[in-house]
Amino acid sequence: MTSLDNPPYTYEAPVSDGLFARGQEITPGGVNSPVRAFRAVGGTPRFMAEGSGPWLTDADGRRYVDLVSSWGPMILGHAHPAVVEAVTAAARRGLSFGAPTEGELELAEEIGSRMAPVERVRLVNSGTEAVLSAVRLARGATGRPLLVKFAGNYHGHVDALLASAGSGVATLGLPDTPGVTTGAAADTVVLPYNDVAAVEAVFAERGAQIAAVVSEAAPGNMGVVPPLDGFNAELRRITAAHGALLVLDEVMTGFRVSRSGWYGLDPVDADLFTFGKVMGGGLPAAAFGGRADLMDHLAPSGPVYQAGTLSGNPVAVAAGLATLRNCTDEVYARCDEVSAVLRGAASAALFAAGVPHRVQQAGSMFSIFFVPDERQVRDYDDARTQDVSRYTAFFHALLARGVYLPPSAFESWFVNAQLDGEALDRVLEALPAAARAAAEADAHRTGAVDSERSS
Ligand code: PLP
Repeated sequence: MTSLDNPPYTYEAPVSDGLFARGQEITPGGVNSPVRAFRAVGGTPRFMAEGSGPWLTDADGRRYVDLVSSWGPMILGHAHPAVVEAVTAAARRGLSFGAPTEGELELAEEIGSRMAPVERVRLVNSGTEAVLSAVRLARGATGRPLLVKFAGNYHGHVDALLASAGSGVATLGLPDTPGVTTGAAADTVVLPYNDVAAVEAVFAERGAQIAAVVSEAAPGNMGVVPPLDGFNAELRRITAAHGALLVLDEVMTGFRVSRSGWYGLDPVDADLFTFGKVMGGGLPAAAFGGRADLMDHLAPSGPVYQAGTLSGNPVAVAAGLATLRNCTDEVYARCDEVSAVLRGAASAALFAAGVPHRVQQAGSMFSIFFVPDERQVRDYDDARTQDVSRYTAFFHALLARGVYLPPSAFESWFVNAQLDGEALDRVLEALPAAARAAAEADAHRTGAVDSERSS
C-alpha cells in the first residue's frame, strides 16, 4: 500500500494551502460558496487554475478528472472550443448594454423549444434569482401566501425556501439559518419528500392559502433522490385541484439529464419551471418560464415586479446558447453511458471491499449513499442515515489519485461528454483503492452530519 491508502489520504498542496489561508483573511471561510470550503470532508480546498475537457488543473499544477463539472453547467467539458469562441466573439461586441439584444430571444426560444409547457421565458442571473422570482410570481398571481417545499430540496438561498434545505445547508448540518424572519419561515410548509399523503393532508387543511408547491423536478441536493413513479404527476393533480401552482425546479436537471431536462424523462406540465446551470454554459445566466397567461403577470406586462441590470447579459447568453446548441443527442447519450460505467464500477468496487452502499440516479446525475442497510433513499431522513465518514475516506482517496468528487456526501456527481480515454481510465483505476479506504473508515456514527455543525 502506498501512503495514499492511509488516513488522512491527503498529500501536500502548498499553493492551495497558501491561497486558502489568504482567502480566510478577506472572505468568510475563504470561499464564495460554502461547500467549496471542504468543511464536510476536511482538508484544503483545491484552488483551480485551469479546466480543459474532462480535466481540472489546480494551483499546484495537479490534474484531476472532474466529476463536479462546476456543479452541473460544464456538460460539454471545460473550455469547449465552440463555447469559448462564442463568448469571445460576444465580448468583442460589448460586455453589457442594459438594452435588449437578439441573443436573449434566441436563448429564450431555445429553452421554449425544448420545454413544451414553457411559453414565456424571463432570463435572470442565478438559480436563486430564478426561484425567488417564480415564487413572487406565484404569490402575486394567486394572491395566496403559503409555499409548500420538501425537506432536503434546495432551491438556492431564497429566504422562504431555506427551511430544511439540501446542498450546503445539509452538508454543514445547519439549523434553519439566522437572518430569515419568522414571518418568512411561517409562510413555508416543509414536508417529507416523496410523501403524497403528507401533501394531501396539508392541502386538505390549508389548500385555499397555498400559492405553490415548489419541488426539485428530481432532487440532487440531498444526494440524488429521484421522485417515486408518479410523484410529480400527483403534485400536479393535487395543486390543480386546489387552484395552487406547481413550480418544478430544473436548475440542476434542466438540459442536463435530457435535452428537455427531467421533463423529457417525466413529462409533467408544471405551471412554472426554473432553470440555471447548463443553460448558462458556465457563466451567470438562469431563467424561469411557464404558461403565457401566468408569466404575463410580470412587469412590464403585469404588476408583479422583477428586474435585473445584467439579466440577459450578452456574454452569458452567448455561453448558454452555444452550450445548448452543442448539447446534441450524442452528448446526452455519452453522458448516460459514462454515468452507467461509473455507477457500475463504483458499486462493483464497493461490493468487493464489503462496503454497504446504494447508488441512486436521475438520468446521468447520480450519487452514492453509504447507507448501512442499503435500502432505497426516498427522502431526507433516509439520506441522513448515511455514514459520511465513509464518503470522506472515499473522497480523499480519489482526490489523492487525481479524481475530483463533490466535497460532500449530499451532492450529485456530474459527468461531462468528454469523460473518456485516459480520464475515464484514471477514475476506474482509482475506484478499488477508494473503496478499500471507505471500508476502513470509522464505523457508522449516528449524527455524523450534525457533528459538522460545530466545525
Ligand atoms: N435550484 C436547484 C435545484 C439547485 O440545485 C440550485 C443550486 O445548486 C439552485 C436552485 C440555486 O442556483 P444558484 O446556485 O445558481 O443560485
